[in-house]
Amino acid sequence: SITKLPSAPSLMMNSHFASVGADASKDAYEHGIQVIDEDKVFNQNLSTYLHVENVIPAGFNYHLISVFGSQSTGKSTLLNYLFKTQFGVMSEQERRQTTKGIWMSKNKRAAGEKGMAENILVMDVEGTDGRERGEDQDFERKSALFALATSEVLIVNIWEHQVGLYQGANMGLLKTVFEVNLQLFVKDSKTIPKSLLFFVIRDHIGTTPLKNLQNTLLQDLSKLWSSISKPSGLENSRIEDYFDFAFVALPHKILQPEKFEAEVEKLSTRFREGYTDPKKSGLIDEADLPVFLPQYHRRIPADGFAVYAESIWDQIVNNKDLDLPTQQELLAQFRCDEISREVMIAFDEKITPLEDKQADDARIGKPTVIPDLGSVMNAARSKVLKEFETNASRYHKGVYTRKKAELEGKVDTRLKTLFQKQLAAAHKSGIETFSAAVSGAVKTGQKKGATYDFADIVETQKSEALAKFEQEAQAIVVEGAPWSNYSQELNLYRKELDEVSSQLRKEEMRRLATRIERWVRSRLDEFIGLEFNRLGSGRGGSGAPETGDRPASEKDLWDRVWTLFTDTVSQAESRFEERAKSFSASNDEVEVGLWRLRRKSWGVLRSKIEEEVMEGNILLKLRENFEDRFRYDDLGVPRIWRPTDDIEGAYTRAREATMGLIPLLARFRLSSTDAAPPLDAWIGEAPASVSAADEDDLAPIGGVDEAEGKSLDEEMVVMSEAKQADLLVRFKKMADAVYVEAKRGALGGVTQ
Ligand code: GDP
Ligand code: MG
Repeated sequence: SITKLPSAPSLMMNSHFASVGADASKDAYEHGIQVIDEDKVFNQNLSTYLHVENVIPAGFNYHLISVFGSQSTGKSTLLNYLFKTQFGVMSEQERRQTTKGIWMSKNKRAAGEKGMAENILVMDVEGTDGRERGEDQDFERKSALFALATSEVLIVNIWEHQVGLYQGANMGLLKTVFEVNLQLFVKDSKTIPKSLLFFVIRDHIGTTPLKNLQNTLLQDLSKLWSSISKPSGLENSRIEDYFDFAFVALPHKILQPEKFEAEVEKLSTRFREGYTDPKKSGLIDEADLPVFLPQYHRRIPADGFAVYAESIWDQIVNNKDLDLPTQQELLAQFRCDEISREVMIAFDEKITPLEDKQADDARIGKPTVIPDLGSVMNAARSKVLKEFETNASRYHKGVYTRKKAELEGKVDTRLKTLFQKQLAAAHKSGIETFSAAVSGAVKTGQKKGATYDFADIVETQKSEALAKFEQEAQAIVVEGAPWSNYSQELNLYRKELDEVSSQLRKEEMRRLATRIERWVRSRLDEFIGLEFNRLGSGRGGSGAPETGDRPASEKDLWDRVWTLFTDTVSQAESRFEERAKSFSASNDEVEVGLWRLRRKSWGVLRSKIEEEVMEGNILLKLRENFEDRFRYDDLGVPRIWRPTDDIEGAYTRAREATMGLIPLLARFRLSSTDAAPPLDAWIGEAPASVSAADEDDLAPIGGVDEAEGKSLDEEMVVMSEAKQADLLVRFKKMADAVYVEAKRGALGGVTQ
């Protein structure tokens, strides 16, 4: 049936078209039109051709089919049988690529034949594999993308034996085309364009049922879909959102020509319009369902199709941002990933147990230094990288380099974790060892009794600890890995050693302070004891006792006590200072130590005095003092009382003199100033650097610690009024007894 040219040129008509005669055009388009030639040039006569074929006035009433598949798989042959087209086919003699670029032809069967849809436009696409184009797979990618973007039905033509083969079934190419289609045409479109992927399986022998082949292909497709990178917003899209699937198997054309032709005839009947619910999607697996569903149509009016197709082609060809990976790159990615996984197995075998060990240690809070970690890490890293290099470097350079960096990143992330955990373990154990070693050396020093050099011990242990850490860190440095650097960790370690050292020095200061306090205690015990003993002698005052002129031992008791005390403490202070400085305590630390020493020494003195004035002790001293006065004359000669002697007078004088001691003893008071000793000034203000811990064990001192609410005078009370009164009563009783005895002795003439 000859279609007539439209009488009036349409809007889409160009001048070229207008000058071409109808019959000449018909002849010129016997084989259809080459829409895109092998130089990727879009044919400006497409519109003319659609005119010639009378498609232009069809509005939406036309359909577009493309074929996709490896070279020489009988694509053109199939189309020619299905649509009576005359696409060039390879002669059986010369195995050479025939179809170049993209050809289009209108269905040559009579409209309505077998119920076929009107205006079916068929595109015959140059076969994939690019065998004759060498490595340039650019065209096959672009043409496949063009077919996908424009066609309602994409016939995927494959041999039965290609099913399940990644390369053979063009899965790699499909993947790229899907990916790019999403990026380029689907991403921003309002409605999701849907196409039918119609798998035509050629040379089907029949031993494997179509159903099985179909399942294999569907599985491969969904795997492929999950592996493609999707634009944001479409990450969760499924392949079914964009494609429906149909499958048909054809017998061998050469071996079973009749059967082949019969099946193809049957197949042609499927190119009918269908009206299934567009929301129902998925598999069209019933043998005779129509393939043209409304949802596949791109909704471009026929007179705009040429412009539309050209603009799509322009986008595909001119999109500079679009970096289509070549087959080589795809292969390289695939193989590099595979090799990466393979080489990681050995790496995991070595490294995972170490990671587990560290995790276990961390769980029980006992990080340990793993011996040989460094050599294991070095060996595992260089092995994994070397093996990857050996196996993967022959693939596409760019991909290889990127994948190598990826692998290195993965490996190094794990090694770095091992490295840092090991450093943390070395740090922890190093600090513990250091503390223990210093304490141990101090103990040994103390046992020997010699004055050990604390600063020296610390320095020796510190440099040992640093050396050990550095050695452990150096041992796990990974060659060629810039991250395996431990200078920061070493600094932290050094800092903590310093902190621990200063802590240990503080403890050492406390020990020193305790020793010095003990020394102060023993000195004061001795000296103060002696001073109080001297009270036993009441004589030595110049002049008569009744004048109240007391001997120095009594009068200046507290002055001497104060002087003894301050002298002793000041000796202790210089010893403390000298020792503390020797182990490099800071000035602040020394200052605090001295302040504490003075306060504690005062406490020692106070308790010593309290011991001296304890009832039994002080009464004994008063008795001695009294007897000394009563029983001896001023020359120190023992008195023999005679009845004529003024025993009573002597007794009264001696008793009064001794009684006068009680108030004198009751208060720490300097005779030189007739005031309390300047304890507050002597102790001094608390140093600014004093800490709560430093004050923890200190008893408050009246007149020094204001918060105490006790004055200096109160602090200096040695015996309370009540105690004095009590002491007085007891003393008097005791003196009375001595007197009675003397009196009795005199009367009886008994010598003392
Ligand atoms: P195209 O490159 O995919 O378009 O393949 P052609 O249609 O040019 O055919 C390539 C060769 O395969 C030709 O020699 C055909 O005769 C042959 N051929 C076509 N269809 C079939 C078929 O179904 N089975 C076999 N075994 N050969 C076929
Ligand atoms: Mg062909």
